[in-house]
Amino acid sequence: MHAEILSVGTELLLGEITDTNAQYISARLKDIGVDVFRRVTVGDNPARLEAAFREAIGRADIIIATGGLGPTEDDLTAQCLAASLGRKLVFNEAAWALIEERLRKRGRAGSEADKKQAYIIEGGLFFPNREGTAPGQAVLFDGKLAAILPGPPREMRPMFDTQVLPLICKTYEGLQPILSVNLKLVGIPEAKVNEVLKDLMESANPSCAPYVGVGEVRIRIAAKGSSTREAQLMLSKVEEEVRRRLGGYIYGQDEETLEEAVAVLLRKRGMTLAVAESVTGGLVCHRLTGVPGISRHLIAGMVAYSPKIKVSCLGVPSEAALRDQAVNEEVARSMAEGIRRLAGADIGLATTGFAGPEGGTEREPVGTVYVGLSDKRGYLVDRQVYPGSRSSVKEFGAQRALYILWKHLKEWEK
Ligand code: ATP
Repeated sequence: MHAEILSVGTELLLGEITDTNAQYISARLKDIGVDVFRRVTVGDNPARLEAAFREAIGRADIIIATGGLGPTEDDLTAQCLAASLGRKLVFNEAAWALIEERLRKRGRAGSEADKKQAYIIEGGLFFPNREGTAPGQAVLFDGKLAAILPGPPREMRPMFDTQVLPLICKTYEGLQPILSVNLKLVGIPEAKVNEVLKDLMESANPSCAPYVGVGEVRIRIAAKGSSTREAQLMLSKVEEEVRRRLGGYIYGQDEETLEEAVAVLLRKRGMTLAVAESVTGGLVCHRLTGVPGISRHLIAGMVAYSPKIKVSCLGVPSEAALRDQAVNEEVARSMAEGIRRLAGADIGLATTGFAGPEGGTEREPVGTVYVGLSDKRGYLVDRQVYPGSRSSVKEFGAQRALYILWKHLKEWEK
């Protein structure tokens, strides 16, 4: 049995985005013993897309397509698969109810254009989309399976793992369902994770492997069983054990981000935040403002780049601003206090540092990042020195600032 993956989207052909979906799906199919013989990329062109489906259906047993399921005119994947199978698209009330519910949560009413996403291929089934609106779909025919999934990886991945993989394993005998979870950790180096999980990492099934990211570690736990239930049980056991050993460092799982975890805690504590950034140039605020509903907590963000502005707008003492080109503990602290006062927020968060490649001082080399945090009880300052390029120092710095904030909010009541 073999599979073919179809990546749909003109952006992919123009080189504007990288096809990480096909890579992800290939790796997951390999896990359950399905060979991928071909990966095809097609633009948003109905004739070529329909032809690509016909060809894939002629060659492969399993066809997985991603992209082009949205509400706009150029989202044609469902129509083209339906046409290649000689089937109609039928409006599905249950799918529409789920789409409307998702839209309501975003404060929107469903429009006629949105309705397009509720048309499911005749005789097919749909996969609810827990991260977005467009449902995925699958059709079983002549011993084959064709599935179409949303393009955004954040929507596609959980849908593929929790809905498509189990369906493939149920449909074809001899395939073993594999379930996985990614736990995301901050504030602990990979070497320590390796040490703590050494015994679990030696097992091939369930497997447990750490991967290093920017200022965080992801632990992928995967379990292969003779049934989804068995795989789930195996997975839960290891997951519980990892949580028992390292729970204090885990901020989320799978597609969850650190800024989302921070937002959850701000909501829980009913607190407001203001951010003053120097070295991270707005990256902390950029990440936070990507979280829906953050406006109830994030009051203000300021990029205070020059020492002069740090002094005049945030009340940083002039002597501190002159020392080491305003990269020092006192500046980080007084920036955090200053922005908190200015905005009338519960918490002030600040960054200052040297992103390089030039600059730095003897005491504070390139790569130094200070994070300051201030609240009504006092302040704390964290200092790190990161290797790497200008953009990597900024990324590490922003991640560290969010980590310091997350840790502070988590430990608030202690
Ligand atoms: P939407 O409802 O968001 O329009 P969609 O299912 O119609 O979703 P597309 O419009 O094709 O999907 O793609 C939306 C976004 O998803 C793209 O801009 C891109 O960021 C991401 N994406 C699409 N296909 C891929 C892919 N193969 N690999 C990685 N990212 C992808």
